[in-house]
Amino acid sequence: MNKTSLDDKTWTQQRIIDDQISRYLDNGKDFIDDAVLDALLEDRTAPDRKRVEDILAKSLSVETLSPEEAACLLRVDDPELLDRMKETGAAVKRKVYDNRIVTFAPMYLSNHCVNNCAYCGLRRENTVIERRALTLDEVKQEAAVLAGQIGHKRVIAVYGEHPSYDIDYMVDSIRAIYDVKVPTRRGMGEIRRVNVNAAPLSIEHLKILGEAGLGTYQVFQETYHHQTYSRIHPANTLKGNYRWRLYAMHRALETGVIDDVGLGVLFGLADWRFEVIGLLLHNIELEKRFGIGAHTLSFPRVEPAANTPYTSRSSRRVSDADFKKLVTVLRLAVPHAGMIVTARENADIRRQVLPLGCTQTDASTRIGVGAYGEDTARQVGEKQQFLLGDTRSLDDVVRELAEMGSITSFCTAGYRCGRTGRCIMELLRSGAEGKFCKMNAVLTFREWLDDFATPATKTAGEKILAVELDQIKHKMPSSYPRLLESYRRIVAGERDIYF
Ligand code: SF4
Repeated sequence: MNKTSLDDKTWTQQRIIDDQISRYLDNGKDFIDDAVLDALLEDRTAPDRKRVEDILAKSLSVETLSPEEAACLLRVDDPELLDRMKETGAAVKRKVYDNRIVTFAPMYLSNHCVNNCAYCGLRRENTVIERRALTLDEVKQEAAVLAGQIGHKRVIAVYGEHPSYDIDYMVDSIRAIYDVKVPTRRGMGEIRRVNVNAAPLSIEHLKILGEAGLGTYQVFQETYHHQTYSRIHPANTLKGNYRWRLYAMHRALETGVIDDVGLGVLFGLADWRFEVIGLLLHNIELEKRFGIGAHTLSFPRVEPAANTPYTSRSSRRVSDADFKKLVTVLRLAVPHAGMIVTARENADIRRQVLPLGCTQTDASTRIGVGAYGEDTARQVGEKQQFLLGDTRSLDDVVRELAEMGSITSFCTAGYRCGRTGRCIMELLRSGAEGKFCKMNAVLTFREWLDDFATPATKTAGEKILAVELDQIKHKMPSSYPRLLESYRRIVAGERDIYF
């Protein structure tokens, strides 16, 4: 492991580069104007049906909504109109992403952190946490379990912010994950896509990360509300700098080597309506400035964490009903974006939220550092950032998805074929990406069923596969022969064939 020789204070001082914030400001202001958002959300009168239907039509044509339009949807309380919104959100998802759900696993590489966020079990002052960071050998062992025993093809590598785990460690660990190849039942298992959830980085460090094979770069703002942000992120910490975080994606896209970014909010810190508009504004800002919006939106809710009273005290906790509404409005507001619901939520809520337009979910999730290599899936609060709501296996989740009519896609082809950034935005908006995705979902799902599925999941999965093959045969007749030939090669044991 690469340890820095700098003491913590020097490291902290060098971390934030003022010019890499100020260059994006507009007359000294950032793009979140709390007063404007508050005014937008002040009106609580029910919108008329015609106005709502017009907005839904815009969303269905895969156009990003304006903040005013999203605020209008947030005001809908009429159950019938809410159902219309949910139906349209599901239709938008089907149009852009069909019935595919992508799965991934988070991999926590370290839980040391210099920050002190009130809601987080890993905050610096939380002395009950057992701190640990993986060596590169341990990173490989974790990847081997995920790729060889569970069958994941994508991970999100999660890093705390600490001087011991610098950019070299991040690069080495990403490469270590990609390097792992392990035998499976019929072929070889490997992680084909490493996304990163990490602290905001400088343009220089982001460039290095991009060149190391970073997939999506995720930084969640946690809350867009300035005052709330300051209250829960102490000013004397790195994370206390709102704008360093807010412009993390600007810096990423400015590198020219990263063109795939994921935004998110930790719901339960401020008014959830404010956060929905904040997320939308962030996406609009990136689209305007770089021509590339968020590839994914995440909407975790605050969950209990060991020795972290804030998580049960917050007056801003989001009810299940409001959670479903915010997912619906986000789905409609940013129609091109992938939507990630995670195992923070319990199985029942995931079941209810997935059909609202989600496209990605995790499974077999463990968030303790090194937890995939441990014998038990039992959660230990003192070893993890928060407590998960759903610890079901990937096999269980895949089977349930199949029974709900969704195909689990393990595809990572788009990134490896250069279908990212502006290119993927265009393909998603036009629906053209769907053609590749549908075929790659079939091929990767076949692979996974043969390599990892239990007999019950294989049976459920094969029913979905038969439907998908039939659809491709009739809707994409010119592509079908090529697909069938690849499918037969996969069945015969060949791996990683994609379009
Ligand atoms: Fe550190 Fe992230 Fe937890 Fe804040 S939320 S204390 S930055 S791990």
